[in-house]
Amino acid sequence: MNSPGKGKATGHFVLIPLMAQGHMIPMVDIARLLAARGVLTSLITTPLNAARFTRSVEEAQASGLPIRLVELPFPCREAGLPEGCESLDTLPSKELIINFFKATAMLRPTVDEYLSNLEIPASCIISDMGLPWTGSTAKKLGIPRLIFHGTCCFSLLCVLMVRKSEVYESVATDHEPFAVPGIPHRIEVTRVQLPSNFAMKSSMKGLSDEILESEAAASGVVVNSFNDLERGYTELYEDAIGKKVWTIGPTFQSNKSVPHSRKREQDLGDEDLCLGWLDERAPRSVVYVSFGSLARFSFEQLVGIGLGLEASNYPFIWVIRAANVTAQMEEWLTGGFEERTKGRSLIIRGWAPQVLILSHPSIGGFMTHCGWNSTLEGINAGIPMITWPMFADQFLNEKLVVEMAQVGVGVGVKSPSVWQDEKPGASVTKEEVQSAVERLMDQGEEGEARRNRARDLRERAKSAMEKGGSSYTNLTLLIEEMTNYSS
Ligand code: UDP
Repeated sequence: MNSPGKGKATGHFVLIPLMAQGHMIPMVDIARLLAARGVLTSLITTPLNAARFTRSVEEAQASGLPIRLVELPFPCREAGLPEGCESLDTLPSKELIINFFKATAMLRPTVDEYLSNLEIPASCIISDMGLPWTGSTAKKLGIPRLIFHGTCCFSLLCVLMVRKSEVYESVATDHEPFAVPGIPHRIEVTRVQLPSNFAMKSSMKGLSDEILESEAAASGVVVNSFNDLERGYTELYEDAIGKKVWTIGPTFQSNKSVPHSRKREQDLGDEDLCLGWLDERAPRSVVYVSFGSLARFSFEQLVGIGLGLEASNYPFIWVIRAANVTAQMEEWLTGGFEERTKGRSLIIRGWAPQVLILSHPSIGGFMTHCGWNSTLEGINAGIPMITWPMFADQFLNEKLVVEMAQVGVGVGVKSPSVWQDEKPGASVTKEEVQSAVERLMDQGEEGEARRNRARDLRERAKSAMEKGGSSYTNLTLLIEEMTNYSS
């Protein structure tokens, strides 16, 4: 465990993220934001997850921020997980998801004991919605628990309205569209496009019920988003749940608050290579293609993506997650594809410095799975997007990007992939990939209007985090409310 920095602290915020890249990354950023305001902040996680963020936290400490990384052992063996399997992206199969959540719940006694013996007692807990037991921990300590969902208010409200109204019962099939009731825009979804924890028959129903129960008991919600992007949905969501909602993002802008810290731990992959390659490309000419930390593709689908990118004739960076780089895929890449696209392709096998890449002036488009962090990172960079949702909140995030903000072009996916399951064959064709890229990168009126809207959102994202901006102010209010609660 590392010690806090020397900054003068007010209050003590304890952050407990779900162990998954898409949930850990924004929570570490939130910790840095809080610490930058002088709030003692402890991030509780497990050794493997801590190792991914040590550098970022140590940098923050070195610049005097009162931030701690607390490592507690993860009970892999006890929960029936392979040793070292401490994050969702390291799970070898989807059958182990249940075991993974079992292991997270088994952390409770250790966390309770740690928090009961703190020299500076915790003022509040901000914890992931996927860790419902943290609600009981907060209750035992007599402090508020705030929930972090890892998505936006718009998607949270849509799910809530669909669940409350049971409108999904009114359609005959999983693929028949229906309008989300009780919201100001006409947004159509199908049953299969809703987050899986919604599916009441799912094997995760027990956990899903626990999550709903603990959400009802929570004191408020912290969201990595900003009000101008949410277009009124922050207030609507707040009204619907009857609790305070603090939008405090884009939280990764917190990296700017620490000198010499352009990058995060997980941004280290191939940084020089990517930025050097981008430096040699024309402004706004490159398509960046990445599907986050969890998505799995079949070989056929990967080939479809590659051929579509090749046919589109634009330069591209294509990040292929390590789990998708099979021997067959490697052979296909090196057996002709890389040669044919030489000079205009950069293939990253594994982890790419995404935030840095997106902020490079040569990037002109982003093909994304619409994970919320990636979506927000694209918006923050002012880059129009090709949307390819796969599971969880991603279909709803796509609606926000394509229909509401109008800064994206859908690739045409209608139904989800099951996370951690390769879907056989290809659901999106080479021609669809090519056509989406050409439409997005088009220099005509439609493309230009989209780029202008994206640039406008980038400015709004920036303003939100500046002193006096909505997210900046919300963070101030959040800190005040939580520290007043404890004093
Ligand atoms: N990410 C990255 N490099 C990669 C893949 C992902 O830096 O090669 C980061 C990305 O910038 C984002 C997070 O990992 O912050 C992924 O979160 P998201 O919500 O987009 O998707 P998930 O991985 O949860 O599906």
